[in-house]
Amino acid sequence: MTVPGREDGAGAGQSRFRLTLVRGDITEQHVDAVVNAANSSLLGGGGVDGAIHRRGGPAILAECRALRASRYGRGLPTGQAVATTGGNLPARWVIHTVGPVFSAGEDRSALLADCHRNSLRVADELGARSVAFPAVSTGVYGWPLDDAALIALRAVSQTPTSVELLSFVLFDDRALTVFRQAADALGLTA
Ligand code: ADP
Repeated sequence: MTVPGREDGAGAGQSRFRLTLVRGDITEQHVDAVVNAANSSLLGGGGVDGAIHRRGGPAILAECRALRASRYGRGLPTGQAVATTGGNLPARWVIHTVGPVFSAGEDRSALLADCHRNSLRVADELGARSVAFPAVSTGVYGWPLDDAALIALRAVSQTPTSVELLSFVLFDDRALTVFRQAADALGLTA
């Protein structure tokens, strides 16, 4: 499914990119940059993070270690984003962002939106024209998929960016269905 970005600033968004929702593995995406659902240590983990480091090879971890040494000694704060090489991935860059852990008692949705906004800002700094996002925070971090999809899609559609092709790469059919429903609900469906 392809969802054209809104150009008129009305309704859900003001971006100009083409939005695509696909089922697949983010490590296989032939795009300029893939977003990693990292943890703040930047030293790898499970889920998307583990897959990206496994497939991307040691160059990514080496740059992450250098970033820790130079700028993020206390870890990358939740909601922020930083880029490394894509190593052996088809993507040229990995944009690491730290999603918030879901909390039933505290509304952390602004931080989840920040992940998407800041990832797009980093993509613009890199000059990336095509970017693929996973469903940040919906795995180990426990965010309900339907809510996360709405937050993610709203955030990207409202962020001005030079990115031209933005995809969400969903790992299974259920996640794809939920993201499609969220796109419909936000009026992003073509
Ligand atoms: P978080 O810690 O932010 O919750 P996870 O990596 O645990 O991140 O999960 C985020 C989402 O990514 C989950 O919906 C999970 O099913 C999905 N996922 C896991 N591996 C991949 C992959 N290789 N490509 C795309 N999505 C993936």
